[in-house]
Amino acid sequence: MKNLIAANWKMNKTNEEAVALVKELTPLVKDAEADVVVCPSFTVLKDVADELKGSNIKLGAQNMHYEDSGAFTGDVSPLMLKSVGCGYVILGHSDRREIFKEDDALIDKKVISALKHALKPILCVGENFDQKEKGIANDIIETQLKNCLKGLDNQQMKDVSIAYEPIWAISRGNPNVKPATKEDAEQRHQFVRSVLNNLFDENTSKNTRILYGGSMKAENAKELLAMPDINGGLVGNASLKAKGFAEIVKAGE
Ligand code: PEP
Repeated sequence: MKNLIAANWKMNKTNEEAVALVKELTPLVKDAEADVVVCPSFTVLKDVADELKGSNIKLGAQNMHYEDSGAFTGDVSPLMLKSVGCGYVILGHSDRREIFKEDDALIDKKVISALKHALKPILCVGENFDQKEKGIANDIIETQLKNCLKGLDNQQMKDVSIAYEPIWAISRGNPNVKPATKEDAEQRHQFVRSVLNNLFDENTSKNTRILYGGSMKAENAKELLAMPDINGGLVGNASLKAKGFAEIVKAGE
């Protein structure tokens, strides 16, 4: 299966900086075997889209509302994302869950709405440190998958990717945070696949891309991406520099 490497820039990069970053990135990944997606902030999507024209890099957003329009001050709709050229959208990121209190039911609505508008969701799931220590990581992941993929069928799942992001491994800009070991990540990815097998059919379980997210960088991407059930990465901090991100893209080849 083709890897998917997605850049989550979070709340970083002004318009000028964002355009400069993709300008530098485009030639570095032009021959990439993986699918490459960048997910900038809403305000810079249009200019980044213009800069990406004719390249192999796809555009994604970091969040969206589930309604097409309406009185939702400060929010952005799937129609708006489509109209500036987005093909992907990150949903259920732990920042959204923890800081903005998004729950599984809301995220499920967003996933369904994204698919309705032909936006490919990258659905994030993963346990925090306490949950890992208590030994309930798999329960958390299973519940999130069940609740956030409610109402979807096998056909719709063809456009969904899952990002397994252990929250304790997310750098939040700190380069000293350690990622999950490749063995631990692989085990969790196998578990995600087994849950998909229960919720959907074997084909869906086999063919859904499961990305790893949490301090992935040039130095560790190769060993993580070599694991059989790791089909790409959702990259935060290390996606903010073109060279490092391009090395991650190439690491899976
Ligand atoms: C993230 O927040 O999605 C993420 C994976 O961040 P980082 O790569 O910086 O750990």
